[in-house]
Amino acid sequence: MADSKKILIVEDEEKIAEAIEAYLKNSGYETSRASNGRDAITIFEKKMPDLVILDLMLPEISGEEVCRHIRRTSRTPVIMLTAKVAENDRVQGLDIGADDYITKPFSPRELVARVAAILRRSSEKDPLFSKMSWNDSDLEIDIIASTVRKSGISVSLTPSEYRILLALIKHPGRTFTREELIGISLGDDYDGYDRIVDSHIKNLRSKIETDSANPQYILTVRGIGYKFGA
Ligand code: CA
Repeated sequence: MADSKKILIVEDEEKIAEAIEAYLKNSGYETSRASNGRDAITIFEKKMPDLVILDLMLPEISGEEVCRHIRRTSRTPVIMLTAKVAENDRVQGLDIGADDYITKPFSPRELVARVAAILRRSSEKDPLFSKMSWNDSDLEIDIIASTVRKSGISVSLTPSEYRILLALIKHPGRTFTREELIGISLGDDYDGYDRIVDSHIKNLRSKIETDSANPQYILTVRGIGYKFGA
C-alpha cells in the first residue's frame, strides 16, 4: 500500500516544467502539472498533492496568490521558484507561507534533494498528524506506515479506499464531490462512472464503521458527495 508522494509542478515555462517533471518521476514521485495559477488551484484541490513546486511569476493568478490560497486550506509544503534574487522577494516568498524557495537557474537535482528534505521534515515535525485515532482508538490510522485499525484489529484497504479515506480525514468536515474522490482514488484524469466512488465508500464503511447503515466516520452529503464526520 506504499503510496508514492504526489507533487504538483506549477510553472508556465514548459521546458523548465518538463525538466523538473522528468527528474521527479525518475526519483519515484507522481507528478501533475499546471501552467497557470488558475489551473494550479483547480489541480491542487482535485489531486491534493503532498508538495507543490510553485513558480512565482505566472500568468493570470500569481504564484503568491496561489500560495496564499493553498495556505488557507492546507499545510501542504510549497517550494517557490523565483527568477529574482532580491532579498525582499525571498522574504515575501516566505511570508506568504512557502516552506522553501529556489532561485532560477537551478539544477533539477538540487530541487529534487530539497523536495525530499521537505517531505521528510514535514512528516517528522508533524507526529500528531502521522498517527490519528478517533473514539477512544475505535479507528486508528498510521499515515507513515499506511495502516488502518478498527477496534484494535488491522483492516486491509485497497489503495483506492486508502487514498479516499486519507483525503477525507485530512480535511474533516469538508465535503468532497464524487468527481473529486474519483480523481483521488484513481490518481489521474478519469472521466467515468462516478458510482464507482459509491462502491469504494460502501466497502470502506464495511471495514471501518461499526454499523455501515449508520456511519459515524464517512458521512453522506446528499446530492454532493461525502465527508469525514468524526
Ligand atoms: Ca514564470
